[in-house]
Amino acid sequence: MDKGSVLITGGAGFIGIHLLKEMLDLYPDFHFLNVDCLTPISNTLELVELDGYPNYTFHQLDICSYQQMSNLFKEHELFGIIHLAAETHVDSSISKPKKFVRTNVLGTLNLLELARIHCINKPWFGKFYQISTDEVFGHLDESGSFKEEDPYAPRSPYAASKASADHLVRAYHHTYGLPMVISHCTNNYGPFQHEEKFIPKIITNALKKEPIPIYGRGDNIRNWLFVEDHVDAIQLIYSSGLNGHTYNISGKDELTNLELADRITDLVDKYTRQPKGTSRNLITFVPDRPGHDFRYSLERKKIWDHLRWKPFTKFEDGLKKTVYHYVEKFLL
Ligand code: NAD
Repeated sequence: MDKGSVLITGGAGFIGIHLLKEMLDLYPDFHFLNVDCLTPISNTLELVELDGYPNYTFHQLDICSYQQMSNLFKEHELFGIIHLAAETHVDSSISKPKKFVRTNVLGTLNLLELARIHCINKPWFGKFYQISTDEVFGHLDESGSFKEEDPYAPRSPYAASKASADHLVRAYHHTYGLPMVISHCTNNYGPFQHEEKFIPKIITNALKKEPIPIYGRGDNIRNWLFVEDHVDAIQLIYSSGLNGHTYNISGKDELTNLELADRITDLVDKYTRQPKGTSRNLITFVPDRPGHDFRYSLERKKIWDHLRWKPFTKFEDGLKKTVYHYVEKFLL
């Protein structure tokens, strides 16, 4: 039995790998348990790099297996839980909704139940931190932003499964006294995101000279946050967020999907020394996704007022780093 472990679920995913890389250096006195079942989108190469850290262990486990997770909770005294593991691809949630309910709802319920049994009333247990999404609030037209207390109105199976998980986390707080926080974040971008996701797909298709699919006319609007800024906010909320509270985390930059694709393809052309416009010609409009949310936007006043967090990275700088990462990987 050790003391001082922090459980991070989904630590082989896009955000998880960035979070672990930063926390392992910053908090050498804590032991980090990374639980991930390793799905095809996981960063297995990056994961190997973490093995050298003395304050880190990887556990290839499925959060949906109560037995597997129960053994882990029995073996370690947890100081806290940061729960990122999820099925996250909205398109896949439309074709395979059950998988999303299994992982995002039942998997979260398993963790909550084990936290209820093993962590509540332990003086050293900090909090259960549920990483949620802006998509639980539904969508907006051109104006306005969602506040933390706005009602949920999810519109995709992915968003509905995340919303259900959030409700369970709050229910465990109110019913059993589980200390917890929830954060909702807008779209993240950065290195190490799987190539099935929007930005990496644009970059890799441009590099492979394959059509770049854009839903509808590309006029859906998203708010973008550089992943390292999200990771900073997560650490702040984990250490200083108030018990029972919810925080929005949002970037400053809103763009239509077409504007974003134009900027990315221009950067690809620049880094691969092609005439400007070469990759833009690959942009191809495809039939819209069913129920495609028009716009997401979150107000971030509370996280500034409580924790003095605001996004640090300028969009053009984050985008350059992101595109360069995939170009370099492709050319190696
Ligand atoms: P990701 O899909 O890149 O990574 C998720 C990780 O969870 C993967 O490594 C996967 O193997 C793991 N996982 C899936 N099912 C599991 C299971 N049953 N048991 C154990 N591990 C399992 O996702 P991400 O983009 O890093 O997102 C992480 C979290 O942040 C998710 O909860 C997501 O809803 C939330 N979020 C993401 C964004 C974004 O833009 N990426 C924005 C807001 C919120």
